[in-house]
Amino acid sequence: MISEAERAGAELVVDLGAVVANWRALRRMVGPRVDCAAVVKADAYSLGMVPVARALAVAGCRSFFVATPDEGTGLRRVLGRHGAIAVLHGVPPGAEGFFARHRLTPVINDLGALERWGRHARARGRAAAAYVHMETGLNRLAMPAADVERLIADPAPLRGLAATWMGHLACADDAESPMNRAQLDRFRGLLARLPKGAASFVASSGIALGRDYTFDQVRPGYALFGGDLAPGARKMRPVVRLRARILQVRRVDTPGTVGYGAAHRVTGLSRIATVPVGYADGYRRSLSGRAQAAIGTRLYPVVGRISMDLTTIDVTEAPANTARPGAWVDLIGRRAPIDTVGAWAGTIGYEILTGLGRRFPRRYVGGPDGA
Ligand SMILES: *Cc1c(COP(=O)(O)O)cnc(C)c1O
Repeated sequence: MISEAERAGAELVVDLGAVVANWRALRRMVGPRVDCAAVVKADAYSLGMVPVARALAVAGCRSFFVATPDEGTGLRRVLGRHGAIAVLHGVPPGAEGFFARHRLTPVINDLGALERWGRHARARGRAAAAYVHMETGLNRLAMPAADVERLIADPAPLRGLAATWMGHLACADDAESPMNRAQLDRFRGLLARLPKGAASFVASSGIALGRDYTFDQVRPGYALFGGDLAPGARKMRPVVRLRARILQVRRVDTPGTVGYGAAHRVTGLSRIATVPVGYADGYRRSLSGRAQAAIGTRLYPVVGRISMDLTTIDVTEAPANTARPGAWVDLIGRRAPIDTVGAWAGTIGYEILTGLGRRFPRRYVGGPDGA
């Protein structure tokens, strides 16, 4: 029987050793007194939460963040009794018992939820952990300023809770943005007026802003998975490689076109390689005519429209023995990093990663129990 990758004609190779190396590199950047958590929401940015979280846990990571309660219970099964799991979207009314049973820590985004969670902890007679995410300028999901002021005036809802004060930056990927300092000042101002507790302020990009920003805990996701911390910041180790097998190579001569809409016109005798990955796999249509793909170490242009299941690459310049049916092409990898593919697609690497399809298998290398 041929392998799953051969049947799919493509595979996503995920280097768990590189994930762990990235986590260790970030930990070194923030220093020994700062907890380096791992954000593994959205199935670890589609790379597979179970193997990713297991590799990080084996490496010593003890704090994880997910978005939803279901992601939290899935992660709890992986971690067993060990490790803290914070749920960014908070605890829905009536779900307090569920959170306690699965040892999930809510990120609290309004005063009502804090009151519910505190009441539940006091009724159980056990101190419970909570993140309190305070609005500092992102205006997305966090405790509104008026609620924070009420909490400062009357901290009674915090009884029985061990609170970690949390914030989140809007423009962390732009070190020059005045928003960073403004949000930092607001966060510090609130900390000075609130009961003492640990603080967690930044995700991947914010780590590059320096130690003023890292407080007691940082919450990287994207950088663990090989994404750039920020433009010009140190590079993380690449983690993913999307490989596809050439199905067919054809000669097209002038006048001739390639793909839907006859959008690409060849000039002169060309060789076009077709691979079985398309926009249904997250290789976005906006990459048409803009992306490049690697055979070995050389890049070749993606030409014509990317279709649902197929992509065409101009391999005229490639030696015939490399661009042949059955050969493998890297659509994402060292020569085409996720941030670059994101830029080619007119979006960000995050959207490329999280949008990767499920039609091809994930193959894990470099892991604690992998190759
Ligand atoms: C997603 C998320 C993170 C992780 O962000 P990255 O940019 O991937 O490091 C951290 N904190 C919050 C509140 C998030 O929503």
